[in-house]
Amino acid sequence: MNKCRVILFTFLVGIVSAGMAFSSDSDEYRAKRERMIEEIEGDVKATSRRIGKKELSKSVMKGMANVPRHEFVPGNLRRSAYENRPLPIGYGQTISQPYIVALMTDLLDIEGDDIVLEVGTGSGYQAAILAQLVKKVYTIEIIKELGEQAKGRLEDLGYKNIAVQVGDGYYGLEGLAPFDGIIVTAAANHVPPPLIKQLRPGGRMVIPVGGAFMTQQLMLVEKRNDGKIITKQVLPVIFVPLTGGH
Ligand code: SAM
Repeated sequence: MNKCRVILFTFLVGIVSAGMAFSSDSDEYRAKRERMIEEIEGDVKATSRRIGKKELSKSVMKGMANVPRHEFVPGNLRRSAYENRPLPIGYGQTISQPYIVALMTDLLDIEGDDIVLEVGTGSGYQAAILAQLVKKVYTIEIIKELGEQAKGRLEDLGYKNIAVQVGDGYYGLEGLAPFDGIIVTAAANHVPPPLIKQLRPGGRMVIPVGGAFMTQQLMLVEKRNDGKIITKQVLPVIFVPLTGGH
């Protein structure tokens, strides 16, 4: 093989082994993502008493390390994409803080064969994290423009197991229920009864509960196999409100 061929071969192997999530990755973003992971680990340790664990599952952290968050933020914010904080994504909405995304994903306790519903697609970032861990992610967004943007972005990035729908997620997706896990990424002042109904016995829901524009409680809702509902407050959080007609 001459030198040019060797270089081309190495380049192609690099692209293939990097996989879909790294299609437009660079050393700069990779280094920033590694720092983001360290910050998440630091936040987990700092909140370990409240959240009841000293570390999150390895598969969740691997998912966080894989997804190119810079692809999910507006172009002018790419440099800040790996800061451990929420960022604006337009229409008055935000992409959530990486630590909170990781924690909520971990709390769901999902497995490879699971089918998960996300309410509040936003940028599609949380859906992309979930998609690496489960069989199928259904995600629903109330703002049409955001839903359509996220759908296009996730398709361009090669995610094949995410279905984006535009609609009011308060009512879930009854025709596709039950779900093994439900994650709500906007704050409601109560746990929506349709979502409880659509949770499989043995399944978990993670949802911020509380008033709009104030501190809410991140809640873990478990539906036991006998149908009994157990709720637990995990952490104070601040999310944009769950809107819609309910
Ligand atoms: N998960 C998103 C991400 O990874 O970028 C961040 C979600 S953002 C904090 C909350 C999202 O919930 C917003 O995009 C908002 O429009 C959406 N939302 C609010 N109320 C909703 C509802 N009733 N049904 C579906 N989506 C809703």
